[in-house]
Amino acid sequence: MTTGSSLLILGQGADPASERGVSCPGELPPASDPALVERARAAKAALGDRLFVLGHHYQRDEVIQFADVTGDSFKLAQEAAARPQAPYIVFCGVHFMAESADILTSADQQVVLPDLAAGCSMADMATYDQVEECWEVLEDAGIAGDVVPITYMNSSADIKAFVGRHGGVVCTSSNARRALEWAFAKGSKVLFLPDQHLGRNTAVLEMGLSLDDCVVYSPNRPDGGLSTAELRDATMILWRGHCSVHGRFSLDSVNEVRARIPGVNVLVHPECRHEVVQAADLIGSTEYIIRTIEEAPAGTAWAVGTELNLVKRLAGRHPDKTVVFLDRTVCFCSTMNRIDLPHLVWSLESLARGEVVNQITVEAETAHYARVALDRMLALP
Ligand code: SF4
Repeated sequence: MTTGSSLLILGQGADPASERGVSCPGELPPASDPALVERARAAKAALGDRLFVLGHHYQRDEVIQFADVTGDSFKLAQEAAARPQAPYIVFCGVHFMAESADILTSADQQVVLPDLAAGCSMADMATYDQVEECWEVLEDAGIAGDVVPITYMNSSADIKAFVGRHGGVVCTSSNARRALEWAFAKGSKVLFLPDQHLGRNTAVLEMGLSLDDCVVYSPNRPDGGLSTAELRDATMILWRGHCSVHGRFSLDSVNEVRARIPGVNVLVHPECRHEVVQAADLIGSTEYIIRTIEEAPAGTAWAVGTELNLVKRLAGRHPDKTVVFLDRTVCFCSTMNRIDLPHLVWSLESLARGEVVNQITVEAETAHYARVALDRMLALP
């Protein structure tokens, strides 16, 4: 058996060069401990106003019950920034979100990610070196001066900083169209990172571009797998990245649910593949999905194409409506699920003892340029 790429067990082992798994120092309470809920409550109460707990919508119920505020990644980063009196921000979400919170909060605030192995497969699909190499390819093709880079919030601080340095902007799934409009007012081409689906869906369905206007840059192929002519002709250069959860929904999932539940409304996130989004009834961000289900009349049926923890929670909150997961195969976001109650208890109890564990810090220059790209997003019309 080869051990070259051995898997890391939850909370054990270390691979600090990536987000795949990092050691969890200290005594992690066993998941079977019946006192976990009480321990989390007690630690939270002991910390009082010094603590602010953020919970992403895709988090487990066992964790989200301790969140002071829930939201999508950008709302949570803003909420953290709006609490300068809380020195400890515990981020129940994934690594790139905690980085954004660190960038947007003051130097006196410390951001904690209860399990450092909570990364994001999409964010990992674009590394700094790969994006630099891509830019060189664009320079060699003589088009870098025409390209405005846009990165989705779901990217590392390094990538946000690259975009900030090169005149670009960060976007979320709620403001991707406005970011594209802003970019096309500055240049004739966009490099969209790292989610090809959000880039394509926004360009084609909201901006009126055609699929032929888009090319896909593959970071693992020489020159991205594109010829100079293809790069020069393209309007949208999409990075070959995707979300492993939203990318699994297919046209079959949509057809199957329509056959199974007559009259069902299909509601999906724009990280889904283009053919899925085209076949859906409604498309929108996580916050839009939540609002749509909340406002839907009783008796309506919804097949929702987003992360399963959220879909299950929406189904539980709206028993007067039928709310189902779009795919028949159950699939959580495995990295979001890394944050469980034992890790939350461990991080809160450590903070209550005055020990800051799993702090997420972004190096000053990277934070500066990432902030430039984030501030451009905040200033979008
Ligand atoms: S749901 Fe997708 S984009 Fe979100 S953290 Fe998981 S892998 Fe990343």
